[in-house]
Formats: sequence, C-alpha cells, structure tokens
Amino acid sequence: MKIGVKKVIISLLFILFAYSGLVGQRISQLNFRPPLDVPLYLAGSFGEIRSNHLHSGTDFRTLGITGLNVYAMENGYISRIKIEPEGYGKAVYITHSNGYVSVYAHLERLREDIAMYCKKEQYKQKQFVVDILLKANEIRVTKGDFIAWSGNSGGTSGPHLHLEIREGKSQDPWNALLLFNRCVHDTIAPIIEKLWIYPLSANSAVNHQFANAYYAVSSLKNNYVVKHNYPILVKGNIGIGIQTYDKTDTTNIHSGIYSIDLYVNSKLIFQQVLDRFSFSEGRYVNSLIDFEYYIHNHERINRLFLQPNNHFSIYRQVIDNGIINFADTSTKNILIKVKDANNNESVLKFSLKGDLTPPEKVTAKQNKAETQFMPYQKDNLFQREKIRLFVPKNALYDDLLFEYSTLPQHNFYSEVYQVHNPFTPLHKSASLSIKAIKLPNALHAKALLLNIDEKGQVQWSGGFFKDGYVVSNIRAFGNYVIGVDTVAPKIKINSVLKNNDFTNWKRIAFTIKDDLSGIKSYTGFIDGKWALFEYDPKQDLVYHEFDEEQMSFHHKHTLDMIVTDEKNNKAEYHTEFFK
Ligand SMILES: [Zn+2]
Repeated sequence: MKIGVKKVIISLLFILFAYSGLVGQRISQLNFRPPLDVPLYLAGSFGEIRSNHLHSGTDFRTLGITGLNVYAMENGYISRIKIEPEGYGKAVYITHSNGYVSVYAHLERLREDIAMYCKKEQYKQKQFVVDILLKANEIRVTKGDFIAWSGNSGGTSGPHLHLEIREGKSQDPWNALLLFNRCVHDTIAPIIEKLWIYPLSANSAVNHQFANAYYAVSSLKNNYVVKHNYPILVKGNIGIGIQTYDKTDTTNIHSGIYSIDLYVNSKLIFQQVLDRFSFSEGRYVNSLIDFEYYIHNHERINRLFLQPNNHFSIYRQVIDNGIINFADTSTKNILIKVKDANNNESVLKFSLKGDLTPPEKVTAKQNKAETQFMPYQKDNLFQREKIRLFVPKNALYDDLLFEYSTLPQHNFYSEVYQVHNPFTPLHKSASLSIKAIKLPNALHAKALLLNIDEKGQVQWSGGFFKDGYVVSNIRAFGNYVIGVDTVAPKIKINSVLKNNDFTNWKRIAFTIKDDLSGIKSYTGFIDGKWALFEYDPKQDLVYHEFDEEQMSFHHKHTLDMIVTDEKNNKAEYHTEFFK
C-alpha cells in the first residue's frame, strides 16, 4: 500500500516534471563534466544582451591566456569543425548520445589529429574558411578526452572559452550555466539599477507628462524600493522597464540575468526566461531593449512589455503584452522579481497610482520631414523621384510614422537621404535604392551606399549599381549617401629579414587592410600552389605556418598574395624567400 502511494506520487511528480517542460530541470540532469580543468570563472553568461543578438553560450575565463586544455564534456563524436575569421573562430562540435551537442569556440588550435583532418579539407577546398560535417564513426571521443587548446580566435575581445550546449534536433542553444551553476560560485543576487515607466498611448502620462520617466532604486539586501517615496502618478497604458545585471562571487564582470517576473496586484503578467532560444530569433533583442535609449546612451533597459511584432520565445505568461492600464485613480502594487541562474533573487516593490489629469501639452517639434504611415503587418513602399525604399512586412516591431528628408552634401556622389532615423530598429533588412545622378559611368562598378551616423562617421552599407540606382539591403534606418570605393587594399609583410631567410621561422605573416568596403577575399600562393593562410581580422593579420608536407624545405620559394575588397579592387604582392 505504502509503496503504491509512493509510486503514485512519483508518477505524479514525473508528470508535473514532464509537463513543466522546464529546460533548467532537463539540462541539470545531463551528466557533463566541465570543459576546462581550471576553476570555472564566468566571462559572459547565456542570454546576455549583445549588439543585435543574445549571447548563445557561456564564456569561461582561461587565466587571461590562450593554450589551456579543453576537454570533451561527455562521450560522443566530433560532428562538425567550423573555421571562420570572425564569429566562433576555430570551433569543434561534439554530438552526444543523449541528444545534445556541445560546442567549444574561439579555440587557438585543435588536437593534432583533428587539426590534420581539418587542414586536409582546407587544402582540398583551397579555403581557410571551412564548415565540415563529420560522420559518427570518424572521430569518436570519450568524456574527458583532450580535444583542443583554448584561444582567442574569431570575434573576441580577449582569450576565453565560449561553450555552448545545443539541443541536437533544433540546434537551439540552451543555458549551459544551469549545468555548471554548482561550479560557478554565485551567491550574489542580480543588481537592479534603475526603474523606468513608459507612457504607451497618446493619452498616457507619467506624472502628468507624456515622457519616459526613470527612478533611482535602493536596496536593503535583495529587497529594492524606489528611492524617493512619492507616489508615481500614471494615466492610460503604461509599460515598465528596468536596468539590471548579475555578478558572481569570483569575477567583477556584469553578466546577464536568468529571469524576470512582473506581478501587478500579485498577478503574474509578464515573464522572461533565458533558458533557451533559437538563433533565428536573436534580433528580437532590439525590441526587448529600449533601442532608442541604447543608441543614445549605450545602456540597455530591459522592457517588461512587448511591441506587437515581438515574438521572441523567451517570453512566457505574458498578459496584455505586459501593458498595464490605468483608467481610474486606484493604486496598483507592482512587484518585479529578477533571478540569476543560481536561483539568487532580487525583488523590487513599488506602487503606481492612477491619475485622471490630462497630460501637459508638449509643443510639437518643428519638423520639415515628409511622413508616411507604415503598418508593420504589411509590405511598405516609399517612393520619391530620387529614392525608393521597400520595407517588407514584419520588418518593423510596431506601426511606424516613417519620416523622410534630404540634406545637401558635397563630399559624396549624392545628397544625404534621411531614411527615418537610427532609433527605430529593423527586424529584417529593407531595400534602399538611391538614384545615381552625379555618379560618372566609369564609377558604376565601384558604387556603394554609405551610412553616416550621428557622429558623422561613415560606414559601408553594401550595394551595387543597377538600372540607374545604387541599391542595397540595409539593416538600419538612418542617413545614407552614394559613395565609391576605388582604392585597393594594402598588403605589408610583417617580418623584414636579411635576405628574406625564414630558415629559423615557423611562419610568414602579412598585414592586410582595406579603407572602406572591407576585405572580400585573400589568397596566398607558395611556389605557384595555393597555400593555407589563416586570417585574424582583429589584428588585420594573415599568416602561413610552414609545413614540410606542403612544401620542401631548404630552398628558395616564391610567394604571391592577392587581396581584393568588396568592390573588386585588387592588390598583389610578390616576394621570394628562403626556407
Ligand atoms: Zn561567448
């Protein structure tokens, strides 16, 4: 009888467990070992807000150096080797029998046999950049096997290991910190820095104003209150935002939080959980944050309400898009709970009081811009004599009153087109065509669009000449002009040696740079044969490691390096050396 009851309870628990579907619970059941044998200090957390995406991995410190041993976390086989100059740099993927894939990125060097396998493929494809998918029986690994040396390759700002755990089928990244939270000492609850209140509709107000308002907060241990104890008066539709980050016991970095819950009068109306997401959703981060505030201040406010076209799957239990309506003078009690992956929790409590006073009139700013209403659910075309802009449906997070104007400009091949402003984010690219009136025929092949930012800095935005226009897919609104890139990249050899004698050298390196459109390709030939040159754009560096399998030593050799930019301007460098 007793056993029977126990069984029922266990199966009930199991059903609850299965139905809760919480990634946290499932992931902590995985029996993975840490990927490093140094203590796990966090350098960045899963779900941390980055530029145009969320961080998909957990970053571990590597004592500030490269070359630490990296180990397979569980039995399995190497299923993918990906080498790229940016992004993950050198990365190894291991598929495990439990259905998960572990990814180890920014590596310096792969284990000898894996490196050989990769190099063979690079010579076969005549490419440094490769993405190799391996079969299950090619390179098997046992839990704890050494697989690579940690590094600083790809898009990094210092040596560390980027570790990812992906669900095998979907390739969705899961929060690996949930797996190693015992190893990462964190007893510090998330820090809440500031509270923001947003009026969200035309008749809304915060303290009689139609403007976002911020409030300093203070805390006793993990209990936060609004610093000045006056009532916050609100009218109409209101949204809430907070600035928050987490800290661990062992490092000083500001890392990301795990979850945020928003309660209104004890009812949960908004929940955000960073346990997993899909790579395809990453750009929703620009709607998660107050994008305009970020562009102005480089600080990120996490909004606890959704724009209508924000379908990020990290939101759970959202009622009325997290928007709170105040139609009378009653008071609502607000509670915000912020957690980290170690279940440390901070709570912010305050109240909002309804107020029926209409908001103070603000004098409309002088604006000479033309406008056009763009509903987010529809394709939108804006067309004038010299410009055409196509904004596809679902490229915007909300309906937009699009603004357009032009400014004279003499340094470029067109006037400046103010294509709305950089404060409204785009979820998908829009197609921008600017009529090439001043552009000489001889420069058609070299034409591109340039974005001029708030500080006057000019950036390449892609594009090509077609049917009298320069056309490009732009990822952001802002100021655009037609420019040209006619200047070839620069190539410089890094080692100046007597008689070009590399006998005692392991490698030969070059600095390659382009002034505007950027490096499209580079190719190195030794003795007329394609040679593997690795590329590190952080240092503008390409280098070849001498390899007796590829070239015979104790000879004179020829070397040719050819570099082209995105507008096909070509630079060539020829030299002879002894090795
Ligand atoms: Zn990372």
